[in-house]
Amino acid sequence: MNDCLFCKIIKGDIPSTKIYENEYVYAFLDIEPQAPFHAIIVPKTHISSADEINAQNSIYIAKIFEAVAEIAKAESLSDGYRVVNNCGKDGGQTVGHIHFHLLARRNLAWPPG
Ligand code: AMP
Ligand code: ZN
Repeated sequence: MNDCLFCKIIKGDIPSTKIYENEYVYAFLDIEPQAPFHAIIVPKTHISSADEINAQNSIYIAKIFEAVAEIAKAESLSDGYRVVNNCGKDGGQTVGHIHFHLLARRNLAWPPG
């Protein structure tokens, strides 16, 4: 857990561009944006992936989606957006702390590659 990149970002040990924070959730801009607006939303507890969501920690996931709606309003993402969770190797997950990408301000292709 001490080695987790996103835990370090939440603690402020690694800098990030914060866009939203509350008791449960931290959100910051992605360092390698894939859309004109690209934020990463993480729970303030270490959950390694979607595989680890359970009845004890799922409140954090609910709070993330509440944050999505608030961020979308604050950022005026009225044309829409996409929320993405990559899980595991085939899902393309590269950081082992569950996170949700919030992508917007361009037309997003479907299905994704
Ligand atoms: P994933 O590939 O789904 O695990 O997403 C990890 C995301 O974290 C990628 O989009 C990276 O660009 C992003 N990322 C990695 N390191 C940082 C960082 N220090 N600050 C902001 N975003 C980061
Ligand atoms: Zn972590």
